[in-house]
This record gives sequence, structure tokens and C-alpha cells, in this order.
Amino acid sequence: MSATIDINNVTKAYGALTVLDTISLSIEAGEFVVFLGPSGCGKSTLLRMIAGLESVDKGTISIGGERIDTLPPGKRGVAMVFQTYALYPHMTVAQNMAFGLENLKVDKAEIDRRVKAAAETLEMAHLLDRRPAKLSGGQRQRVAIGRAIVKEPKAFLFDEPLSNLDAALRSRTRLELAQLHQRLGSTMIFVTHDQVEAMTLAHRIVVMHDKKIEQIGTPMQIYQRPATRFVAEFVGSPAMSMLPILSAVGNQSADHQGALLEVEGVGAIPTSVSLPDGFRLDGAVMGIRSEDTRVVAPDEGGLALTVTVVERLGERTLLYGKLATGHDMIVEDSGRSMVRAGETVRFDFDRSALHVFDGDGLAYHVAEEA
Ligand code: ADP
Ligand code: MG
Repeated sequence: MSATIDINNVTKAYGALTVLDTISLSIEAGEFVVFLGPSGCGKSTLLRMIAGLESVDKGTISIGGERIDTLPPGKRGVAMVFQTYALYPHMTVAQNMAFGLENLKVDKAEIDRRVKAAAETLEMAHLLDRRPAKLSGGQRQRVAIGRAIVKEPKAFLFDEPLSNLDAALRSRTRLELAQLHQRLGSTMIFVTHDQVEAMTLAHRIVVMHDKKIEQIGTPMQIYQRPATRFVAEFVGSPAMSMLPILSAVGNQSADHQGALLEVEGVGAIPTSVSLPDGFRLDGAVMGIRSEDTRVVAPDEGGLALTVTVVERLGERTLLYGKLATGHDMIVEDSGRSMVRAGETVRFDFDRSALHVFDGDGLAYHVAEEA
């Protein structure tokens, strides 16, 4: 089962503190949507409003075309999985999964059928008679997911379900969740502050910040064409390097048919970025990701970078340093980089991969290739 979810101009305040301001979002049936944003931006609150654990101050929420924000949680057809899985310690895995259905007075044979099916789906049929104390953290979280599956909900709501797992288990469980979604085909909303989880799991990512939705897009849209400076700096690791733009001559560099930028520490850069009249220069920056940079030989020109930290990641090396102007910049070198901290190297960057952000943080990108 899967259903559309429509959030329409939803607002939420706790006392005088507004935490969500006129949020609108339409989710397709069967879609895997991730709410991504820093701690405190309102992700859990929005999820809990869909689940019915928080009231909606203004606006409406519909599931499968039916308005549900006035219904009690049990009547909404959604199942939520939390960061802390809170299993009943005195009950077996099977009993933990069955408990919610017994409360709903579901027929005993039907409960058995659903618990068995969920255990198969989660590859834990052999664990049904165990108690939670005899399970690993990952297995406990699977039981919590099983508890949601047996409800056969129209939508699954996950609130940072992987945060309590260690790194190796987290990436394995992430993969299992992706496979679970493929098997069930259900609508899923997954909340996280972890951009890797968002990038790997989502059909679409909803980036949230400061009471608002900052951008909605596929992982690659969010990564390659971030709508704002906030998104550009929040998504991608290491963070995009930003350099002040001193002047932008609108759409005049003849051969590139875009703006000619004067960037601090870099100089004049012809671009294919089309900037509007009245572009806000005060606070404007040019952004460049480390993977769009490369170390060059001294006779190839480029810009000087005085390296402060060398971070070896195996397949590549990140050089954290400063330009002659003192601005921070991260440059990528090969895994076999010989560069050491304290050295000055020269680097260049791909002009077709730069990003422009105006003084309000709004993004402008290079023209898309035809
Ligand atoms: P996130 O899940 O993105 O970390 P939350 O939705 O939990 O953020 O919280 C959003 C904001 O609402 C935060 O500033 C938080 O302190 C506040 N908040 C959350 N729940 C309550 C509550 N029950 N009472 C008062 N403030 C709350
Ligand atoms: Mg939260």
C-alpha cells in the first residue's frame, strides 16, 4: 500500500516560537522523501504533525487525498519508527511486533500472518522467539521497523532511525532500508541531519532551514544546482569553498554569454552564469567544490595555496589552505599526493563548475549544457 501525502501551508508554533512557517509539499505515492536539515530546524515536528503526535496550527495535511490532520494518530494509516526503538523487554520479537495489532483487535491468524511476513522481509524469521536483550542494536532497530511493517501503513515515517547505530551498522541498515523500500513500494518519509543518508536514500530531498523549506529536489539537483548558499554549504563534504565576488559585470563576457566576475584572490573570470539586473553584490560569493579543483605544476600558472592541513582519504587527498589573500580554500589532489602541510602549491579549478551566490544567498549556476 502506498499513498500520496500533501502538506498545504502548514504552520506550527510553540508559544511565541514559530518553528515551521507555511510549509507546502506534495509527496507521490511510493516516493522516498528525506527531510534534511540541521538540528532544530523542525524536521521532527513536521513528521510528528503528519503522524498526529503534534497538532497543526494552520494549514492542512492529506494522505491519499483525504484530509487527516484532524484525525487521531491511529486513524491516519501511517506508522512511525523512532531513533530510540523502545521495545518491550519482557516480550519476544514476535510479541513486540504483534502488540500494536492486538490493541487494534486485529484477528489472531491475521496478526500471525503479518508478523511472519514482516520477519521474512527483514530476514529475522529465526529471531522471532528472542527477547530484545539478546539482540544487537541493528536487530532491535529491525524489530522496530517490523512493528511498523505489520501495520501495513499507507506511509512510513522514520525519525533518524539510524542515529543510534555505529558507523558500519548504520551504512548496512541504510542499504537494507533502500531494499525494503524497493520490496514494499510504500511511501516513506525519512528525517535526518546526515547528508549521506539523504543523498543515498532519497528520491527527493527536502532541505529545511530556519522554519522554511530551502529546496526540494533529487539528490543530484541538490548537489549540483543548490538553490541557496545554505544548501550548497550544508550538502557535500568537504563544504564548498566560498570566495568574495568584488564585481560582476552582467552578462557581458562575449564568448561565454554570461557574467564577468572579479573574484577576490582569483581575478577576472568569464562565466556562462546569467545574472539579473540588480544582482546583490554586497556579500556575494563564488563557490567551488574541491573535486572541481586540481593541483597544477608551477609552470602551468594557477593560483597559490598555502596548505595548512593535509587530509588523506585514500583515493584522494584534501588540501586545506589559504590563498594569498588569506581566504580559505579546499583543493583536491590525488590519493598519492606528496604535498605536506606548510607547503605552497598551485591549483586551478574548472570554470564550468563554479556557483554564484548573491548577497541574500540566492544561487545562480552555469548554463546547463544543451
Ligand atoms: P529537528 O527534528 O529538526 O532537530 P525539532 O522539530 O525537534 O527539530 O524542533 C524544532 C524546534 O522546535 C526547536 O527549536 C525545538 O527546540 C522546538 N521544539 C520542539 N518540540 C518542542 C516542544 N514540545 N515545546 C517547545 N519547543 C519545541
Ligand atoms: Mg529531530
